[in-house]
Amino acid sequence: MKFSITSKGDHKSESIKAIMCQYLEDFDLEYDEIEPDLAISVGGDGTFLQAFQTYSERLDKTAFIGVHTGHLGFYADWVPEEIEQLVIEIAKNPYQIVEYPLLSMMIHSEDGTSEHYLALNETSIKKVEGSVVLDVTIKGEHFERFRGDGLCISTPSGSTAYNKALGGAIIHPSLPSLQITEMSSINNRVYRTIGSSLMLPKHHVCKFLPVEDNQSFLITIDHITKSVMNIKAIECKVAKEKIRFARYRPFPFWKRVRDSFISEER
Ligand code: NAD
Repeated sequence: MKFSITSKGDHKSESIKAIMCQYLEDFDLEYDEIEPDLAISVGGDGTFLQAFQTYSERLDKTAFIGVHTGHLGFYADWVPEEIEQLVIEIAKNPYQIVEYPLLSMMIHSEDGTSEHYLALNETSIKKVEGSVVLDVTIKGEHFERFRGDGLCISTPSGSTAYNKALGGAIIHPSLPSLQITEMSSINNRVYRTIGSSLMLPKHHVCKFLPVEDNQSFLITIDHITKSVMNIKAIECKVAKEKIRFARYRPFPFWKRVRDSFISEER
């Protein structure tokens, strides 16, 4: 089996990366950063998102696992004290695959070109200056004209991240869906938005169309931020691709939610 390790880059993560590399190579596993069967992230959720974006073109061939060197992670569940056990599991035992849904996002530009992205957490549409003004369509029908700070379109596993901070619902990753959550919408007698988060099932495509010309938007895709001009439409749907996690033991979603946001005590 070929593996890669993406490290957060701090001293602790780098030394764990070095130890894991050495142990795994001692078991005759091959380090391959280009075409790994298993992508290991060492750091936090941000490092895991980085590993996901690195291998997002080969999700059918690469499975993911995370070691967290800081506080409890949503994607990284192994702790540094467990790396010997993890190395033995990787070297000796087959893993279970757990799949989570992803978000597919297309940016269609005025010049006719399009760019495609996959997000593990979310995409958000914001601006540096002024309000975001977008027509929102769902399944080709106009739904509302949004005016406010921006919109967050999240995956179920991303629902506990930026979406949660915006007041969105927490969605179990067994539900292939996306969630649209508002950021400070303007609501008065002139402007009106739904206000609630919207859950869209698989195959329901939503589009966001700029109302004003020559607008520059800040688009985030997980931990990446892009400044984009001359957008014709941003199209979002549940992706046909899924992320595959390598699991050697259970990592129940609701336990993670409780341990992260309520308490680690019983
Ligand atoms: P960062 O270093 O600012 O980390 C943001 C925090 O989000 C970290 O504590 C991380 O553990 C947590 N996080 C990431 N994914 C999560 C998930 N699926 N569930 C629960 N918590 C999660 O930024 P980063 O490390 O580059 O990560 C980028 C992510 O940060 C984005 O995908 C977005 O979801 C999140 N974010 C959150 C807020 C907010 O909560 N107000 C604002 C901007 C971005």
